[in-house]
Amino acid sequence: MNIIETDRLTRRFQATEAVHELTLAVPTGSVFALLGANGAGKTTTLKLLVNLLLPTAGSAQVLGVDSRRLGERELAQIGYVSENQKLPGGMTVAQLLDYCRSFYPTWDRTLEAKLLTRFDLPADRALKQLSRGMLMKAALLSALAYRPRLLVLDEPFSGLDPVVRDDFTAGLLEAAQLGETTVLLSSHDIEEVERLADHIALLEAGRLRFTETTEVLLGRFRRIEVELDGA
Ligand code: ATP
Repeated sequence: MNIIETDRLTRRFQATEAVHELTLAVPTGSVFALLGANGAGKTTTLKLLVNLLLPTAGSAQVLGVDSRRLGERELAQIGYVSENQKLPGGMTVAQLLDYCRSFYPTWDRTLEAKLLTRFDLPADRALKQLSRGMLMKAALLSALAYRPRLLVLDEPFSGLDPVVRDDFTAGLLEAAQLGETTVLLSSHDIEEVERLADHIALLEAGRLRFTETTEVLLGRFRRIEVELDGA
């Protein structure tokens, strides 16, 4: 089963074709990475999938619904965390969590407590006083603890130091497994993607170059290395 299926999904901005006839499937339960350089079309693709942008042509099915028709019911099952996450800076971490808890009926307090400990988040600190890494963790916690069926992360690792990144990766995988959440993320960092994702789609200038399981891809690279060594 696929939680997302796109069919020649296309988005133009005037003369720029940010996403060109993208056809791909994201299996339910996977950690799926859109890999690509700056400007490859990753953010545009993610925004098309969560109905923050409309396609110029083609279509996408997300949670079995056309992305253009995603309603409150489906959106309540999708978490979206972007690189430039906007959180209310005056709130403390605890107040943010109180707010989220009241908002999402599926909020899981056990998972919240696990992630709070795992991320080492200071509950009574105002969000505006948090480092970028801490802020990303708070955003991730508030997106994961309501157990969304789909979590969309736009460049979650950009600008994070390695320690925060490792915490973040471990917390993400743990919570995704516990919450049975499918994760779709974008990244330009191949090492990060290899470590985290079980499926990879490479985007170049808005076009899909290939989509493969990480295992098959790594096997292919290993074979090339062996062939080069043996040459
Ligand atoms: P980055 O990591 O730099 O955000 P990306 O892979 O996410 O890169 P997109 O942000 O999707 O790429 O951009 C793809 C292309 O579409 C780029 O050439 C970008 O300049 C262009 N683009 C994106 N949004 C707009 C917009 N609102 N108006 C005009 N062009 C845009």
